[in-house]
Amino acid sequence: MQNLHCAQIIDGKAVAQALLERVQRQVQVWSAQQLPAPGLTVVRVGDDPASGVYVAKKAKTAEQLGIRSSICHLPATVSQRALFETLDALNADTAVNAVLLQLPIARHLDTYASIARLTPEKDVDGFHPENLGLLMAGLEPTAPPCTPAGIMALLAHCGVPLAGANAVVIGRSMIVGKPVALMLLNQSATVSVCHSQTRDLAKITQQADVLISAVGVPGLITGEMIKPGAVVIDVGINRITEGERAGKLTGDVAFDSALSVCGQITPVPGGVGPMTIAMLMRNTARLYARQNGLSCDL
Ligand code: NAD
Repeated sequence: MQNLHCAQIIDGKAVAQALLERVQRQVQVWSAQQLPAPGLTVVRVGDDPASGVYVAKKAKTAEQLGIRSSICHLPATVSQRALFETLDALNADTAVNAVLLQLPIARHLDTYASIARLTPEKDVDGFHPENLGLLMAGLEPTAPPCTPAGIMALLAHCGVPLAGANAVVIGRSMIVGKPVALMLLNQSATVSVCHSQTRDLAKITQQADVLISAVGVPGLITGEMIKPGAVVIDVGINRITEGERAGKLTGDVAFDSALSVCGQITPVPGGVGPMTIAMLMRNTARLYARQNGLSCDL
């Protein structure tokens, strides 16, 4: 018999757009009160082209919302000391409310020490140890990590019940896997975290009511690995290198085979990606409000 089931595709672009409009309205309210615009600075180290595209997109989106943005572009050869001095200056600059260190940074630099050098009050990515520590304590930092926060917002938007649900996260990075696992745990899901050393991945993913893949391997998750009716969040961003779709982006999930099994699924592009940028803007507004003792219902 033919399988007629087809999953609902989660429109991350639309959810992100709605959030961006709310941020814009909030910024307009502050502007009408003669308050200065929130300020976001993105620190970019080196000339990695992919980072260049991401940084430009973040700056452009900020400007569209009325957020002042600047890019602090340092050479790939910058010393750890000079990077620290730049971060110290941004920490001290009262016109800068939010600072983002675009990752990855050059290998001779210490990523963790550089993030920790930021003042936690301006850490718009939520990677400072104090902010990650709040998540660990079951609390929500003012600016939680953007991609995980975007994933949680999509799950909330779709009305996915999390308490008691089996949630499986594939990937254990500081940027996505670990913080989203903590957020799910904080919402009372039963969480499994899988990674490159996990044995029999399919056996674990088949138990998942909510399956989140943040790996960076195209086609890693196939339909047979998914529990019927599961909600699948595909965080992976991979560039296709061969065939007629060469140059286009794809996720970790073999989309067509997943569609006939799962209940809901995010596409790539147009799923988690737009939510990440929208959360960055929301976090900037939240940090600005917090620093200035203003209310903000974003
Ligand atoms: P990362 O390289 O830091 O981590 C990848 C994780 O995948 C690691 O924990 C590793 O153990 C695990 N892994 C690798 N191979 C595996 C396998 N075969 N089976 C199971 N686990 C495996 O990557 P990251 O920074 O967390 O990003 C992951 C993916 O998400 C990338 O494709 C990245 O481009 C994408 N990403 C997307 C967004 C977005 O906004 N949509 C944001 C951040 C990252």
